[in-house]
Amino acid sequence: MRLPGEIRYIDFHTHSKGGADDTIAVRNLMAGDEIPDDFPANTLFSAGIHPWQLTIENEAQLKTELLLTASHPHVVMMGEAGFDRLRGAQGEVQYGVFLFQASLAAEMGKPVVIHCVRGWDELRRARREVKPGRPWVIHGFRGSGSLAASLAEEGFWFSLGAKGLTQEVIESVYHEKLLLETDDSGLEIAEVYRLFEAAAGYDEQRAESLVRNNFNSLLNFSL
Ligand SMILES: [Zn+2]
Repeated sequence: MRLPGEIRYIDFHTHSKGGADDTIAVRNLMAGDEIPDDFPANTLFSAGIHPWQLTIENEAQLKTELLLTASHPHVVMMGEAGFDRLRGAQGEVQYGVFLFQASLAAEMGKPVVIHCVRGWDELRRARREVKPGRPWVIHGFRGSGSLAASLAEEGFWFSLGAKGLTQEVIESVYHEKLLLETDDSGLEIAEVYRLFEAAAGYDEQRAESLVRNNFNSLLNFSL
């Protein structure tokens, strides 16, 4: 039997507001977005400079805006931040702004939510440079099992949506460093959990307590 108000699901990455009563949603804000005055108690936030919004001209302004947003008590993670070879400012601008955020996260003791499209070399270089004390979670991962395995070996966590929940990825990552999200699909988070259960061979209860424990350890513990 479930208690009323019991949290069953964690939606680790979404850009839309509010979720069901049984879900904790981490809503992503881009630098410059306002934290709403009013939001449900089961909403947490991540805040970061998304590579898509970054240009050479707006770099300084976005950094200032992020400093203001990141200090809000409901902002529990830095990001999404990262590398995109297809959109936004490229090269050293992108790298420098990522390092700025990674260092800020380290100072504030927050995990980082990573957006990465074809920028794996840069991401690995940054991780070697920063040596983070809190987890870096690659959100919306959609690569191969072998890429997932090598990133998992280097200590990265993963947040998977419907499109990333393949058998080979499920078999390649550490399940105690795994989260689930609705970002890449129009599905409800409960449906994403059901896909995960089918791929991993877990029953509902096992999947729900696994992700809940992972989320707790992400927010509370150092690596
Ligand atoms: Zn996102």
